[in-house]
Amino acid sequence: MIPGPFSYHRPASVADAVKLLSTLGDEARPLAGGHSLVPMMKLRLATPEHLVDLHGIDDLKGIQRNGDRIAIGAMTTQHELLASDEIARSLPILRETALVIADPQVRYMGTLGGNVANGDPGNDMPAVMLVLGASYHLQGPNGARDVAASEFYQGAYFTALEPGELLTSISIPVPESGHSYAYEKLKRKVGDYATAAAAVVMTMSDGKVATCAIGLTNLHETPLLATDAANAVIGTGLDLASLQKAAAAAEAIMSPAADARGPVEYRKHVGGIMVMRALSRALARLG
Ligand SMILES: Cc1cc2nc3c(=O)[nH]c(=O)nc-3n(C[C@H](O)[C@H](O)[C@H](O)COP(=O)(O)OP(=O)(O)OC[C@H]3O[C@@H](n4cnc5c(N)ncnc54)[C@H](O)[C@@H]3O)c2cc1C
Repeated sequence: MIPGPFSYHRPASVADAVKLLSTLGDEARPLAGGHSLVPMMKLRLATPEHLVDLHGIDDLKGIQRNGDRIAIGAMTTQHELLASDEIARSLPILRETALVIADPQVRYMGTLGGNVANGDPGNDMPAVMLVLGASYHLQGPNGARDVAASEFYQGAYFTALEPGELLTSISIPVPESGHSYAYEKLKRKVGDYATAAAAVVMTMSDGKVATCAIGLTNLHETPLLATDAANAVIGTGLDLASLQKAAAAAEAIMSPAADARGPVEYRKHVGGIMVMRALSRALARLG
């Protein structure tokens, strides 16, 4: 299948891209790695008349540590995340998550910005952004603003991005050294989107969970921060009873779609299991 006709634009700066998107209006879409947008165009689920390719904008690339935060340019590919020593050292959960996204070919092209801006509940990075407390830097016709990842997702394919706005970078506070983490993803086969997945970032003190954040992928029309589930394990040593409490609290906020990945009850059940597995693996990592 081939997409319908469209005009192709390749701006060299963020300002030019924003100008194009604002002038061309609803019929224009930014093109990053194209590994979500182009398949949608082939299926006629998206029919933009103009594609604004972001590959010519150098300012959208790169990974930089600024004090206690890491800034990642929106056009940084998933492969570049995997190759980065800074990410391996400071944000290892990003590396673990990138490794379970699709396959190497998709990861060579697919970008972090495209993954988090897409708004597809099946994308893996948004739930990880929630547990890390990330914020998104947006630039549009009315200037620049920062939106917390927790405020960004409003519905399936519906985000805080305003017409003409671009996501230019993602800013992530570096988690405490000695923190632990895990991203557990159930999928039907290698390269598939999640049937259910859970992200955990936590710290322990004197054998008890001191801080914890739990995120959920593809278990609602948006990624979810499972706050009650995290609270259920804080102060515990992650014994079986507290793991089960966390799973039940997480299941209570899930409302997945029934689709080829299974009926609602099944997906909630395995969603709870992903929460327990992610917590257990984060604990095991601490030795
Ligand atoms: C076979 C296959 C399997 C896959 N499996 C997974 C998986 O398991 N998990 C997963 O998370 N993803 C998966 N993906 C999707 C892949 O990770 C995509 O690359 C990613 O979701 C989108 O990134 P992209 O750079 O390709 O964005 P694009 O496809 O270019 O864009 C996606 C959307 O975001 C918008 N957009 C892109 N960049 C910006 C920006 N800077 N500012 C504003 N809007 C922007 C575009 O206009 C478009 O609407 C899979 C893809 C394929 C083809």
